[in-house]
Amino acid sequence: MKPCQKHWEKLKAAIRSRGLWHLVAADGKAAMENVETDLRGRADDRNYDPLMACFFMITSRALDMGGLYLMTGDFCPVCEALKHRIGVPDENGSPCTEEGEESYWIDGPADAAMRHCQEIGLVPKVQ
Ligand SMILES: [Zn+2]
Repeated sequence: MKPCQKHWEKLKAAIRSRGLWHLVAADGKAAMENVETDLRGRADDRNYDPLMACFFMITSRALDMGGLYLMTGDFCPVCEALKHRIGVPDENGSPCTEEGEESYWIDGPADAAMRHCQEIGLVPKVQ
């Protein structure tokens, strides 16, 4: 599973617009080192990377919704969701739109990462 360039850029923009970019690992190597630290159970709040956190939220949700085929190649989880959900009634009975789905898949995790960063004191709480 790998986000396409368009959705990766939108996710990065969502992190930047929430003032969280300074918490993102400097490059892919640093991001993987953070993931490794986390997997070894040695991560603390200073290792929290909102961009990777969002990526894992998105991939987890995509696997919940779409099944394991997403693990068999470079499928973009957001593109796959759009492919399967546009026009399908949402929980309120309204047909899913591309704009609504992109917001669900990108702004939703970015907002959750923002709340988490506020809760653990990495960024100030905004009233
Ligand atoms: Zn995509």
